[in-house]
Amino acid sequence: MDFSVLYIGSGQATWNGAVPLAKSGVKVGVIEESQYGGVCSNKGCNAKIILDKPLQLIDQIKALQGRGLDGVPEVNWEDLMAHKHELIVPQDQHGKDRLDNVGIQTINGHAEFVDAHKVRVGKKTYTADKIVIATGLRPHRLDIPGAENSTDFLSLPHMPEHVTILGGGFVAIEFATIASAVGAKVDVITRGKQILKQFPKEYTASIQADLKKAGVRFIPDMEVERATKDEEAGTITLEGPKGFELTTDYVLDATGRVPNHDQLNLEAVGVKANHRGIEVNEYLQTNVENIYAAGDAVDKTIPKLTPTAAFESRYLAAKFMGTNNGPIQYPAISEIVFTSPRIAQVGVKLDEAKANPDKYEITQASYDGDWYRQVENEQGAELALIFEKDSQQLVGAAEKANAAEETINTIVPYVQMRLTKEQLNDFVYVFPSIAYTLQRRLPLV
Ligand SMILES: Cc1cc2nc3c(=O)[nH]c(=O)nc-3n(C[C@H](O)[C@H](O)[C@H](O)COP(=O)(O)OP(=O)(O)OC[C@H]3O[C@@H](n4cnc5c(N)ncnc54)[C@H](O)[C@@H]3O)c2cc1C
Repeated sequence: MDFSVLYIGSGQATWNGAVPLAKSGVKVGVIEESQYGGVCSNKGCNAKIILDKPLQLIDQIKALQGRGLDGVPEVNWEDLMAHKHELIVPQDQHGKDRLDNVGIQTINGHAEFVDAHKVRVGKKTYTADKIVIATGLRPHRLDIPGAENSTDFLSLPHMPEHVTILGGGFVAIEFATIASAVGAKVDVITRGKQILKQFPKEYTASIQADLKKAGVRFIPDMEVERATKDEEAGTITLEGPKGFELTTDYVLDATGRVPNHDQLNLEAVGVKANHRGIEVNEYLQTNVENIYAAGDAVDKTIPKLTPTAAFESRYLAAKFMGTNNGPIQYPAISEIVFTSPRIAQVGVKLDEAKANPDKYEITQASYDGDWYRQVENEQGAELALIFEKDSQQLVGAAEKANAAEETINTIVPYVQMRLTKEQLNDFVYVFPSIAYTLQRRLPLV
């Protein structure tokens, strides 16, 4: 065999486990057809946060107008994009170096199965004892001429005057936030009524109201039926039921992401998969014994995010090294949408807790009037803590605030360890700080 373990794809679901595996002496290969490091490093999380950061700063500066700050800086999209390129372009090489440096053989090209132990890349075939499918997702494409996807948006050379976004998921709403903050007129067209379905309704309603106030127009319950591009004018016209017609400069198709497994010749090996991903058991093993899957490629109910892909990658490495032979046991999962303010959550969801009052007790607190939030003049921030009634243990939390990612990250281990209300009061935090503020919101026992 050429390899003990051969990974298809080089994203978070691969390198987090492949690197320690190679370091432990296992012969590892990685096949990548595009950029090393995958979507997150090259055309997802990292690029997005570079574009988001100055916008968040501007919001904070706006909140302090007349409170020590006079004047709001403007975004220079072209410079911001250049800064993004400077940081992101090298990621591909860094991703390859990370693998090469520990003796992993990197293979450039599109992988396809020949049989359960053999993968073809161009004219070459490679054999492996175990194969991990970590091929992720690609943007879903509606049949709209001229429409672009999230990858294109993250490299937009100039912000168009009128941006129309199709979809109501986290990519759609984060990019609506960015485009609107940069000065574009933004329309968001959704098939249903609700945006950001995975987050608490009351928080998403407030984010939507903020976006509307900023000029974003939401067009719910709308299915685009026809689209035409006027090459001369550089516009796209969308048409829908009941005479709906909208002409715009730019269409971002953010209607979801689909698995890449349809391009792996899975039929040759009989690996079971569906429109959500590769089917696996509790060991991330497919129905073919030596073939595993990890990350966004997997058909799973937990969120398809970088930390879950990385967790699965590390789990598989431990399994292959023989240091963990048990089934995968996911910890409390946290997630965030980078709107302004952010919404972040971990563990049991707020809407679920509200629907089950016999099981859960909720402590909801507004940060308005909180001393530390007054320093930044932040309004409308809120925290919800979810306790299991019987055990009085913390099982979930959600927050809508500028620094929600920090608060929720502080709470992640508490939820994972299911600390009780009493235990939550047993920490001494740095003061002044966000974490200290959090403790002040805890129910006193
Ligand atoms: C715009 C955007 C923003 C995001 N923001 C966040 C965020 O803020 N936080 C967060 O946690 N997550 C975020 N995500 C999700 C995150 O990027 C993914 O969850 C993560 O990249 C999954 O890693 P993965 O390794 O499973 O797949 P990927 O990163 O998709 O890697 C799969 C790799 O496999 C390669 N590949 C596919 N088929 C083949 C083949 N046949 N042969 C060879 N190579 C192949 C692909 O080229 C790709 O490099 C975002 C995603 C997008 C699109």
